[in-house]
Amino acid sequence: MTEVDTLIIGSGFAGLGLAIRLQREGRGSYLVLERAHDVGGTWRDNVYPGVACDIPSHLYSFSFRPNPDWSQFYAPGGEILQYLRDAALDEAVLPQIRFGADVTAAHWDAEASRWIVSTPVGDFRSAVLVVATGRLSERRLPELPGLPSFAGPVFHSSEWPEDLDLAGSRLGLVGTGASAVQLLPALADAAAGVVVFQRSAPYVVPRGNRLYSDDERAALAADPAALLELRRTQFWDAETGFAARIRASAPLERLRSAAVRQLESQVPDESLRAALTPDYEIGCKRVLLSDDYYPAFARPRVSLEPSAVAVVDAEGVTAASGRRHEVDVLILATGFTSTEPPIARRVRGRDGLLLADAWSDGMVAHNSTTVAGFPNLFVIDGPNASLGHNSAVHMIETQIGFVLEAIDHLAAFDAQTLEPTREAQDHYVRELDRRAATTVWTTGGCRSWYVDERSARLTLLWPDTASAFRDEAGHFDPADYVVDLELPAVGDVRS
Ligand code: NAP
Repeated sequence: MTEVDTLIIGSGFAGLGLAIRLQREGRGSYLVLERAHDVGGTWRDNVYPGVACDIPSHLYSFSFRPNPDWSQFYAPGGEILQYLRDAALDEAVLPQIRFGADVTAAHWDAEASRWIVSTPVGDFRSAVLVVATGRLSERRLPELPGLPSFAGPVFHSSEWPEDLDLAGSRLGLVGTGASAVQLLPALADAAAGVVVFQRSAPYVVPRGNRLYSDDERAALAADPAALLELRRTQFWDAETGFAARIRASAPLERLRSAAVRQLESQVPDESLRAALTPDYEIGCKRVLLSDDYYPAFARPRVSLEPSAVAVVDAEGVTAASGRRHEVDVLILATGFTSTEPPIARRVRGRDGLLLADAWSDGMVAHNSTTVAGFPNLFVIDGPNASLGHNSAVHMIETQIGFVLEAIDHLAAFDAQTLEPTREAQDHYVRELDRRAATTVWTTGGCRSWYVDERSARLTLLWPDTASAFRDEAGHFDPADYVVDLELPAVGDVRS
């Protein structure tokens, strides 16, 4: 059994970010457990054609590792993966990562005040356990009747087969989320045909990507203050996007008309345009950014099936509309199990309580990071810690700061454990529910993965601005926690 002070599960932005801070600043020993054989999380897994980020590159990177060399405003996925690989290498955290370490079970040993974690590469013990497994790591595969009988390749967008040759193939693309919208333009060129199965139409606004010139990159490299200022500007620009999510009428109207104008200008065919028009309020689902999604439908070999997949057979798909489409390859861009993370079925806290049971009505956490009943457990990018309008990296860094403050508190008081009180957690969750109740995510008339189907609660998103998250949930307040102090023996107390 290997023992360290802190165990981190996952080596995406969250796990690596925390590891880098621990490596740079100390706070005892740590290890990162990574089930795959490379770092990078979602950017390692998602290598489908066209994969890119829809948050500006300078904002979608660690504030403590700015990168003047981003090639463009919105970085392609491969460049982000390389950024994370470089970070792991340069910051000397790679030797602290155990690859192939899929966590099969983790439980709290109350007597020893330690987490015991099992993996195929060994067992580990730690005082602190940080779940940094992300919300886009477990693919959601729809149960489509007849799917096993399909004769051709079927795969999820996050499991793109290496060396797949699509030339001459007719493709069925299931889903119209952020992944599908990036995939379609890339596939339209490569394949003999693509039919898009759309269960609900997305809102798509112009993306407006552009390359940074060599001169711009050199100027940023030479001027760290300018680089920081660029990031700051991008952050506050993105923050303005929150107003539409609380249904402020002018910002909501501006966002809606940007999407409608793009649809009208790019899709002249009236019936196609009607089929591509969403029937819910903009922002209720993630607003997608693309300049070439709608134009792809103008190509002769691309068609829209404006209904869900109903039945699959050996050579094709029958849609809910009753239409049948012959396809050779089926691509499932059907998203991820974000509201019910499988890791929660492997983590047991005090008295054997399973995290998935504590979350049976949906994920909850105090400060979006700590869970009553789970001492010294921290969850990054879990309950109410995502955004629909700004950078996930800002949220992750906020939570990393919180974890470090909590670890410092344990050390400062020579304490063994800390755990949020039930009252503090309930109060926090009630407050988030109150804010969520007037947002477009709960009132916009859509079904989205931001909302837990079991309770209809908004469990994935933080229902406020990213800056409010840092102010309100970014600092460890001992008043909300039961801290198990190792009280000194009376004789040890000095006056
Ligand atoms: P997603 O947003 O969850 O979209 C899944 C799509 O699959 C939806 O259109 C959904 O339809 C459809 N679907 C699911 N089950 C279906 C079924 N049984 N039959 C027909 N359609 C079905 O997943 P995603 O596109 O992979 O994106 C997930 C998240 O990843 C994004 O929101 C974003 O946070 C992130 N992402 C970001 C980028 C980027 O930065 N550009 C790119 C990719 C992903 P309904 O809408 O009707 O449910």
